[in-house]
Amino acid sequence: KSTQHASLKQFRQVREEINQVYAQISAYIDECLEFFNSDCSANTPGAIGDAASVKVEEACFSRILTPAAVQSVTDFRAKVRGIREVISRNQMKCAFFGRTSNGKSTVINAMLGRKVLPSGIGHTTNCFLQVEGTSKESAYLQTPNSSEERPIESVSQLGSALSNEKLDCESLVRVFWPKQLCSLLREDVVLLDSPGVDVSPDLDTWIDQFCMDADVFILVCNSESTLMNTEKKFFHKVGSKLSKPNVFVLNNRWDCSDGELDSAELVRKQHMDKSVSFLADELKSCTRSEAESRVYFVSAKEALVNRLKETNQGLESPSPAGSLADGWQSRYFDFKNFEREFELILSDSAIRTKFAAHAEQGRHIAGQMFSILEAVYEGSVEEKDSAVRQRQALQRDLENLRVAASTERDIRQTLEGIERKVAGTLSEEIRRL
Ligand code: GDP
Repeated sequence: KSTQHASLKQFRQVREEINQVYAQISAYIDECLEFFNSDCSANTPGAIGDAASVKVEEACFSRILTPAAVQSVTDFRAKVRGIREVISRNQMKCAFFGRTSNGKSTVINAMLGRKVLPSGIGHTTNCFLQVEGTSKESAYLQTPNSSEERPIESVSQLGSALSNEKLDCESLVRVFWPKQLCSLLREDVVLLDSPGVDVSPDLDTWIDQFCMDADVFILVCNSESTLMNTEKKFFHKVGSKLSKPNVFVLNNRWDCSDGELDSAELVRKQHMDKSVSFLADELKSCTRSEAESRVYFVSAKEALVNRLKETNQGLESPSPAGSLADGWQSRYFDFKNFEREFELILSDSAIRTKFAAHAEQGRHIAGQMFSILEAVYEGSVEEKDSAVRQRQALQRDLENLRVAASTERDIRQTLEGIERKVAGTLSEEIRRL
C-alpha cells in the first residue's frame, strides 16, 4: 500500500518543497520590511532626544534606502502571498471526453474505486461534473452560481439532483467527495466528466473554460465502433490551443468484443493502429512508441466490479456488484497498467505546468531581493566611510585649533611678561626721579 500512487506523491512532495522555499522567501521579505520600517533613530542611542542628529540620521537612511526599493520589496510581499496561495490550491486535473454512453462516468468510478457518479441509462451526464476531494466527512455538491454545499446522500440522489437542475452543457457542477474514502482524491487529483462530444458543443467554450488547466485528457471510446470524427475533431481543437496535450485512449467495453476470439486480435490491432496514428501522426502529441503506451483495451464496468469487491462494497446493496465475463483478468490487468502510466504522466505534467513558472518566479524574486539588499549594504558602507572621513577631518581641525590656541597663550604670556617688565622699569624710574 505504501507504493500506492507513488508517482502522484511526487507532485505533493514538489508542492511541499516549493512551498517551503516560498515560506523562506516570505520570512526574508518580512524581516527586510521590518528593518526598513524600523525607526532609524531608535537604533542610534546617542541620537535620542537630539532632533538635529535624528534629522541627519534620517537623511542618511533615505539615501541608503530609496522609496523605490521599499516599494519593490512591499510588492514582492504581496506577490509571494498570492503565489503561495495558488501553490497550495494546485491540484492535478484529468479531463474525460468521449461520446455519450461510452463509459466515461464508469471509468471515473472505477478509478475512484466506488460509485461516485451516476452512470447508465437515464443518467446521461448533461453538464460538466468535477469530482474533487474534501476533508469533510460527507459528500456534497456545488452548482454553478451558488456556494451552497448541498449534501449528497447517494449516487441515485446525485443523479436526480442533477436531472432536476436546469443545467446546460457548459455548466460545471462540483462534486466534493471525502478524501478519506478515496485514495486518488487524497493525492489531490481532480477528475472532470464531460457531456458527450456528440452533443454538438461549442468546443471553444468547452476548452477555454474547462481544459486549459487540464494535465491529462482521457478519450473514452467504445471499442465496438471505430474512432469517430466528432471525437477526433474535439482533440484537434484541444491540440490547437494546448501544445502537445497528454491524451490517453481507452477502448472501453472491451469485454463485449474480447470474447470473440477470432476477430478480437484483429479488432484490437486495428484500434491500436488507428489510435496510435491519431495521437502521434495527426495530433502530434507524442511519438509513435509513446502513443503505444497511451492506448488501452479495458472494461470499466468490470474494473469497477473488481474494485467494489476488493473493498467489500455493494455486498449488501439490492443489485449485486456485477458480473465478470471470461478473460476479465487481462482486461483488469490492462486497466491497472493504464492507471500506472496515467499517474506517471499526470504527476509529471502537473509538476512541470503547475510549478515550473512558480520556481522561475521565485528565483527572479530572490535575485531582485538580493540586488536591492546589496545596494542597501553598499550604500551603508559608503555612508560609514564618509562618516569616518568626516570624523578624521574634524579631528585635524581640532588639532590645528589646539596648536593655534597654545601659540596664542604663549604670545599672551610673553606680552604679559613684557608688560610687567615695562611697568617695573617705569615705576623704578619714577621712584628715582
Ligand atoms: P458515459 O455517458 O460516457 O458517462 O457512460 P456511462 O459510464 O454512463 O456508461 C453507459 C453504460 O455503459 C452504463 O450502463 C455502463 O454500465 C455501461 N458500461 C460502461 N463501461 C462498460 C464496459 O466496459 N462494459 C460494458 N459491458 N458496459 C459498460
